[in-house]
Amino acid sequence: MRPTGKLHLGHLVGALENWATLQDQYECFYFVADWHALTSEYADTTALVENSYDNVADWIAAGLDPERSTLFIQSLVPEHAELFLLLSMVVPIPWLERVPTYKEQREQLSEKDLSTLGFLAYPLLQTADVAMYDATFVPVGEDQVPHLELSREVVRRFNNFYQQAVPLLTEPQPLLTTFARLPGLDNRKMSKSYRNAIDLSDDAEAVRKKVMSMYTDPKRIRADIPGTVEGNPVFLYHDAFNSNVEEVEDLKARYRQGKVGDVEVKKKLVVALNGVLEPMRQRRAEVLAKPGRVREILFEGSARARLVARETMERVREAVRVRYR
Ligand code: AMP
Repeated sequence: MRPTGKLHLGHLVGALENWATLQDQYECFYFVADWHALTSEYADTTALVENSYDNVADWIAAGLDPERSTLFIQSLVPEHAELFLLLSMVVPIPWLERVPTYKEQREQLSEKDLSTLGFLAYPLLQTADVAMYDATFVPVGEDQVPHLELSREVVRRFNNFYQQAVPLLTEPQPLLTTFARLPGLDNRKMSKSYRNAIDLSDDAEAVRKKVMSMYTDPKRIRADIPGTVEGNPVFLYHDAFNSNVEEVEDLKARYRQGKVGDVEVKKKLVVALNGVLEPMRQRRAEVLAKPGRVREILFEGSARARLVARETMERVREAVRVRYR
């Protein structure tokens, strides 16, 4: 995850909840992709370190366990840069140019100059990130699948050149996160620049205020007019966060009949959301109450990751025959 700002509910349902569950089944490596943040945010790096620590406090709040998983910072394992460099020698530039997100994001983020080598090559840096740990699976959304396809092609090409008797790098497979993207409070794409997200670190009052100002069915100007549930962000949020299914079904039925006001629907959403966020707030406060604890977790995790990375690079240098004794 790139440390480009505060984490919000989208990060929880689209990534963190899944990451926490995967810990029961797999040996997991989760990292703050600070170099990846630079690929688009290179012009202003002032908040990078602060965001990194803040985001990881949220990871822990969401149930990531530094005892069971390796939580680390990409740039504290500089071997990622070395593997990226060696991979870059065998990767034709058109392979990177045809990654769909490359064109899309350059168009979407047109206010930034993304005609940089770093931005073009970021899926290759991702390849180094996962190949470093012989990752068999990477938990990603649909939009990242082409990146993993590229990763497999790159690994295959690299192995073709350099692999001898022993396998060199592992081809990673996607472990698809199926959750559809959570819209912003105003039903637009959730984005920092639109200020339309509920952050995981928002307090109960902030959540209340944000929910009460949420966009609903614009055609429903009075509570006794039948409303539309489908595509209505208040109900999408109920579906995502209100575990009281009966209550949600009752609200939907009454909304469709024009028998419930937006205020009641929203108040119940506030209760549901704060029910989800409150235990997270407590865990967040606990870890932040110990000064330097998040930093310590990340330094320890990075040292652990680095042991694996060093071994991988020994093997890679040997295979590429750039190893001096
Ligand atoms: P980003 O910070 O936008 O790079 O997002 C990092 C990851 O968080 C994404 O790859 C998704 O898995 C997840 N994510 C972010 N925003 C949302 C959202 N609105 N809905 C669902 N998942 C999201």
